[in-house]
Amino acid sequence: MAYEIQPKASHFIDGAYVEDTAGTPIRVICPVSEEEIARVYAATPAIIEQALASAKRAQVAWAAMTGTERGRVLRRAADIIRDRNYDLSVLETNDTGKPLQETLVADATSAADALEYFGGLAGALTGEHVQLGEDFVYTRREALGVCVGIGAWNYPTQIAAWKGAPALACGNAMVFKPSETTPLCALKVAEILHEAGAPAGIYNVVQGMGEVGHALITDPRVAKVSLTGSVPTGRKVYATAAEGIRHVTMELGGKSPLVIFDDADLEDAVGGAILGNFYSSGQVCSNGTRVFVQKGIKDAFLKRLADRLQDVKMGDPLDESVNFGPLVNAKQLDIVQGFIAKGIEEGARLVCGGEREKRAGYFLQPTVFADVSDDMTIARDEIFGPVLSVLDFEDEVEVLARANNTDFGLAAGVFTNDLGRAHRMVAGFEAGTCYINTYNLAPVEAPFGGSKLSGVGRENSKNAVDHYSEMKSVYVSMTAVEAPF
Ligand code: NAD
Repeated sequence: MAYEIQPKASHFIDGAYVEDTAGTPIRVICPVSEEEIARVYAATPAIIEQALASAKRAQVAWAAMTGTERGRVLRRAADIIRDRNYDLSVLETNDTGKPLQETLVADATSAADALEYFGGLAGALTGEHVQLGEDFVYTRREALGVCVGIGAWNYPTQIAAWKGAPALACGNAMVFKPSETTPLCALKVAEILHEAGAPAGIYNVVQGMGEVGHALITDPRVAKVSLTGSVPTGRKVYATAAEGIRHVTMELGGKSPLVIFDDADLEDAVGGAILGNFYSSGQVCSNGTRVFVQKGIKDAFLKRLADRLQDVKMGDPLDESVNFGPLVNAKQLDIVQGFIAKGIEEGARLVCGGEREKRAGYFLQPTVFADVSDDMTIARDEIFGPVLSVLDFEDEVEVLARANNTDFGLAAGVFTNDLGRAHRMVAGFEAGTCYINTYNLAPVEAPFGGSKLSGVGRENSKNAVDHYSEMKSVYVSMTAVEAPF
């Protein structure tokens, strides 16, 4: 039987697809054809209850398995995902509009990496032994229980796995709510995990808007919420989680600096700026959208950037030679066009792009502004679209202060051939994820996350384990108890 890529129903609960058409319909619009390609229904209270109850039921037995047994399931899921990479990438492209050229290497494969990495780590998760004379303390690393994951729309497969893999490795169950804009891919992650042997209920997916997310995280059975989304949503979700003193991971927005010194390799710096602004049509949280370029290299940088933008190929994202897709939906297109108009109005110089393409789909040209000053709206607010702003600078001290002059702190990058300066810059950056002479790589082995308003906690790497488990401390006395009376 051919593998069926389209999810069979709106939700995946207790090991099976579940439908409930009483929920609010959510239309999935293809960003290229602007037509409906699927329809799911937001979770009703009954669906939310089913998902939480089955997660709660399944979690205890899952946590009681050995880490190696749990890890085997995750690693098997990684293998299945790799086998089906092409189909899963097509689904991701249909859901998001990102070019297949990108999704083939960055989405299902990144989900597989997370499942493989945390699957490998699961058997090595331990507590500690602390000798105290004859007495001793040992710690048990325990699962938190039921964790809720809430996703943004730009990396639906990756986000579902980046949250699910460490959660499951540590012995938790997860209820994941994808973004209402790209609801399809997480269902496949759930389906594959169960095909790989995850017990029913260990990874459930329910659809819906913010209300469904809110209902999930206010339920007393929930121990933790991990959100990927914007800062305003993060504020609400963090506050709600605080009511129940729940654990949180917050992966939020950014307005990251990318600093290019005169002595940088020009091709690498231009390549880094392209990766940090135009990959996924600019819809990447860690993008280096404030490109600070030192005065001596500015003209050459702008010229080479304009040359390389000639190689942008827009079109049907399923055509593997296309390297630039549309924005995810009409709303995002409007938002980004609004920022471009604001940039022009506030006096930034439009170097190229800025226009919607005259074709079906939410295509917007890659846009470059120069002569941008720190106080302009396009230099302060997260745009989440293909808009690169070039800001001039003279020296290291000045540019570091300006790079940090933002409430965000997700990522930061520097291009220079001066080794000492590169390390001084990253030591000074107020950002969780930094790059030297490259930009936007996010291997599972490295911690990923933000400082300041950009977030709390880290995803990926061994670090994520601490965010999905807690230590129980056990004091063991080997001597008589001494009491005062
Ligand atoms: P969003 O904040 O609008 O929505 C994120 C998710 O939160 C959605 O699933 C939404 O339904 C849900 N939600 C909204 N209100 C809620 C509430 N009150 N309670 C519970 N859940 C609620 O974000 P978006 O537009 O989907 O994604 C874009 C944003 O995500 C950008 O700001 C981007 O920077 C950020 N992002 C961050 C990272 C990261 O790792 N730091 C990665 C990708 C995207």
